[in-house]
Amino acid sequence: MTGTPVPGNGEDRAVRHVEEGFRRVFGADPDGVWAAPGRVNLIGEHTDYNDGFALPIAIPQNTLVAARRRRDGRLRLHSEQGEGPVIDLGVADLVPGAVTTWGAYPAGVVWALREAGHETGGADLHIDSTVPTGAGLSSSAALECAVAFAYGDLYGLGLTPSALALIAQRAENGFAGVPCGMMDQMASACCAAGQALHLDIRAGVHEQVPFAPETEGLRLLVVDTRVKHDLGDGAYAALRAGCERAAGLLGLAALRDLSPDDLPRAGRLLPAHLVPLVRHVVTENARVAEAVAHLRAGLVAALGPIISAGHASLRDDYAVSCAETDLVVDTALEAGALGARMTGGGFGGSVIVLVAEEHASALETAVTRAFRAAGYRAPHLFAVSPAPGARRLA
Ligand code: ADP
Ligand code: MG
Repeated sequence: MTGTPVPGNGEDRAVRHVEEGFRRVFGADPDGVWAAPGRVNLIGEHTDYNDGFALPIAIPQNTLVAARRRRDGRLRLHSEQGEGPVIDLGVADLVPGAVTTWGAYPAGVVWALREAGHETGGADLHIDSTVPTGAGLSSSAALECAVAFAYGDLYGLGLTPSALALIAQRAENGFAGVPCGMMDQMASACCAAGQALHLDIRAGVHEQVPFAPETEGLRLLVVDTRVKHDLGDGAYAALRAGCERAAGLLGLAALRDLSPDDLPRAGRLLPAHLVPLVRHVVTENARVAEAVAHLRAGLVAALGPIISAGHASLRDDYAVSCAETDLVVDTALEAGALGARMTGGGFGGSVIVLVAEEHASALETAVTRAFRAAGYRAPHLFAVSPAPGARRLA
C-alpha cells in the first residue's frame, strides 16, 4: 500500500517534529510516521449520502501520526491539538459511547477495524496536524485516515486505501456518532497530487481527473471564515433524513436515481418543503458530471460558473450557507473571481475561490476588508494545489 518515499524538506521537518513529540510523550521511538490530508470539495456537496457524485481534492495540510505497536492491548492516544493528557484505553473495551472526547476518532478506527474482523491490538499514537479543526476542511477524516493507514501497516492488514476509508467512515458514524457520508474519508485516503478525485459513491468507484489550475494561470484559494454555527450537527441529520424521505416517497433507493428531467414530476409528487432539497441534490450531481467533462477537456476556467451555481443551490435550495460564507462568495465574485462556493457541510467553515492569478491579491484584500466592515473575525486565506492522499512518510 505505501512505500517509504524520501520526504521533501518541509515534510522531513514535520516528520522529525512528530517523532520527537512521540519520544517526549511515550519515551520510545515510533515504528513509523503516517500522514493523511484535509480536503476541499470542488463540487458535489451533500451528494455522498444520496449515493451520488463528488469531486474533492486533497489539500497540502496534513495530519501526522507517529505510531508504535503495543502487545498488551492498550491504546494510548496523544495529540498536540487534542485536549488533555494521554488517553489510555483497552482495545477490548472499545464500544460506541465509551470515548466522548477527540479520542473517539482514533479509537473509533481501532474499534471499526476489529468490528470488521481484522486482527488488531494496541498502539501508542502521537498526533500533530496542520489541518484546521472544525473549518470544513475535514480534520476529522484526516485524523481517522492517518490512524487507519498507520494501523494497516502496523498490523500488516493489506487493506486498500478505499477499504481504509470505509473503516474511517465507520469510525466516525458508528463510534464518534457523526452521521457523515464518505466523501471526506475517500478524499483523504485516495486523492493524488495534481488530480481531483471523481467519486461515484453508489458504484464504489473513483477516478483521478487532472486538475492543475496553476498551469492555466489560475489559483484555487481557500477562505476559512473561522465560524462554525451551532445548528450544524442537528441540521445535517435533518437534511439527510429529508433526502431519504423524499427518495422513499418517490419509490427510489436514493436521490441519485433522479435526473434533472425528472424534477417537474418529483415536484408534483413531493411535499413542498422537500422539493428544494431534491432539486439541490439532483442539480448538484449534474454539476459534478459537467465539471469532470470540462476538466477532461482541459477547461479549468469553465469550472467557475459551475462552482458558483453550486453555491447558489446550497444557499437557496439546501439552506446550509450562512452570512459569512455568502459574504466571501459575493465579495470574491465582485473582485473578479471565476467562481466561489462554500465547501463542506455548511453553517460556516470554508469557501473555495477560483481566480485568475493577477486578481488573487486584490481579491484577498477585498474579502479581508469586507469581513472587517461586517464586524467579523479576520478570515484565513491560503492558496491550495491538489496534494497527495494518505501515505506512510517514515
Ligand atoms: P472538520 O472535520 O471539518 O475539521 P469536525 O467537527 O468534523 O470538523 O471534526 C473536528 C474534530 O475532530 C475536532 O473537534 C477534534 O475532536 C477532532 N480532531 C481533528 N483533528 C484533530 C487533531 N489533530 N487532534 C485532536 N483532535 C482532532
Ligand atoms: Mg469532519
